[in-house]
Amino acid sequence: MKKVTIIGAGIVGIATACYLRRDGHEVTVVTADPVGEYCSFGNAGMLNSAGCVPQAVPGILAKVPAYLTDPLGPLTVRWSHLPRAMPWLLRFLASATRKRVARGADALSALIKPTVECYEDLARYAGCADLIRRSGYLVAYESEHNYRKDAFVWQLRRERGVETALLDPAGIRALMPQLAPNYACAVHVLNQGFVTNPERLTKSLAAQFERDGGRIVQRKVLAIEVGEGSARALQTDAGGMPVDNLVICAGVHSGEITALLGEPVPIEAERGYHVTYTDPALELPMPVHVSDAKVFVTPMEMGVRVAGQAEFAGIYAPPNYQRADVLETHMRRMFPQVHAADKTRWMGRRPSMPDSLPVLGHSIKNANVYYGFGHGHLGLCGGAPTGRILADLVGGRRPEIDLNPFRVDRF
Ligand SMILES: Cc1cc2nc3c(=O)[nH]c(=O)nc-3n(C[C@H](O)[C@H](O)[C@H](O)COP(=O)(O)OP(=O)(O)OC[C@H]3O[C@@H](n4cnc5c(N)ncnc54)[C@H](O)[C@@H]3O)c2cc1C
Repeated sequence: MKKVTIIGAGIVGIATACYLRRDGHEVTVVTADPVGEYCSFGNAGMLNSAGCVPQAVPGILAKVPAYLTDPLGPLTVRWSHLPRAMPWLLRFLASATRKRVARGADALSALIKPTVECYEDLARYAGCADLIRRSGYLVAYESEHNYRKDAFVWQLRRERGVETALLDPAGIRALMPQLAPNYACAVHVLNQGFVTNPERLTKSLAAQFERDGGRIVQRKVLAIEVGEGSARALQTDAGGMPVDNLVICAGVHSGEITALLGEPVPIEAERGYHVTYTDPALELPMPVHVSDAKVFVTPMEMGVRVAGQAEFAGIYAPPNYQRADVLETHMRRMFPQVHAADKTRWMGRRPSMPDSLPVLGHSIKNANVYYGFGHGHLGLCGGAPTGRILADLVGGRRPEIDLNPFRVDRF
């Protein structure tokens, strides 16, 4: 039995806390924000192992000008942030070679393939099995030409075991009659899953962890005392906390923390938005993604959620809810019948690495420190599998997958 302190109470930190506690360790979670109320609060809920292909794929550079100039496009950069984001953006573009993307897809696929099984297990443990749904989802295209432009990405997915069926408009109508008839074709991605309330998931797991003897304290970590190759203590806004073993799962703030440990990493806030229609008068049989707009629409227990957008404006800039307006425009195009009177809006900061792979594994410089952060678009999918791997590492067991692609010193 070991004493373990985890920084971060998003889905990654809390899933890790559950696995470690179930192994019998004495676990404390330290979080600046209330449990599950940072980026893990409002995601699209997708448990899609089909998301294994990194974001930067060959040809992405050619698409950027159109993305940036289209007012309904999926990408925005706040120009005042551009100089700071530039080194990250250059690394992002440099990772868009066929070879690197294929290697990244291998690593991500190995990590997220067991996502649904991991969450089913954790949700049973926490008494919230109703939140996890096994389901396929649709990826809809306005033209066959656009579908063909994604051929490389679909090939990578299929080569890694993702099962798909191509649908024509009649096939789309049969599967999702609610979707407007704007789509020339769609891919039905089979054997995936989703969560019907990501906030309740993290909070339910945290509640079970506490019932099981785990401890959660709300404090902000300001500094870390390091000595002789180990982290010794956290300095927080409510005083010092000695640590025996330390796990960093602090989402987009993990870069600030690894810098304190002498291991800086390139991490950016890839900010996304959602609009949740709480009385949509719309029942969807499964989630749907419109590839051209890069939005997900997911049926949830509190209504229907449209989520997407990638905004580079830094961690601390205030939200720009015009980006949520864009999501609403796409939603009306997909589902003109949606009742939009009652809705909530939200902005979250994806913790994104330039190669789309999280940092997962041992610290190189500090013997008692472990990392699990930087999952970008896949933090929900990757959260539980990451927790299981971190519990293996802390417990001295060999993880089931090769962790080399996720090393902290790979940049
Ligand atoms: C619009 C949108 C849609 C998305 N859709 C999906 C999806 O469908 N599927 C999917 O897999 N992923 C999705 N994501 C990504 C996913 O939500 C994130 O990757 C994930 O929530 C990150 O979880 P996390 O636990 O790493 O970080 P967070 O949830 O951000 O938690 C970070 C934690 O660290 C704590 N912390 C930070 N700094 C400190 C400090 N100094 N001291 C103490 N505590 C600290 C915070 O308080 C917080 O508790 C989406 C994201 C967005 C924005």
